[in-house]
Amino acid sequence: MTARERLTDVLNALFDGGTRVPCLRGSGDAWTDDDPEVRAEAVTACKPCPVLDLCHAVAVEEDHKFGVWAGIDRTKGTSRKKGAAK
Ligand code: SF4
Repeated sequence: MTARERLTDVLNALFDGGTRVPCLRGSGDAWTDDDPEVRAEAVTACKPCPVLDLCHAVAVEEDHKFGVWAGIDRTKGTSRKKGAAK
């Protein structure tokens, strides 16, 4: 099972129990915003997330190079493709 599959299972279980992780509340746009200051807010918002370790495992496994994952801004440089989703 991949980290992505494990994360999906845990997120579904949390959702069934009435819990949404911070990036799934509202639009979640801050996690992939072009503005580093906005992404910094997402970094802070991740801190209490119950799936930090799994989220980090997905980012590493899938080698994500932009956006905030597990409280880490993985964006390199200043541009990224618009519309990319987690
Ligand atoms: S740790 Fe991952 S799943 Fe949790 S809020 Fe941050 S980006 Fe979302």
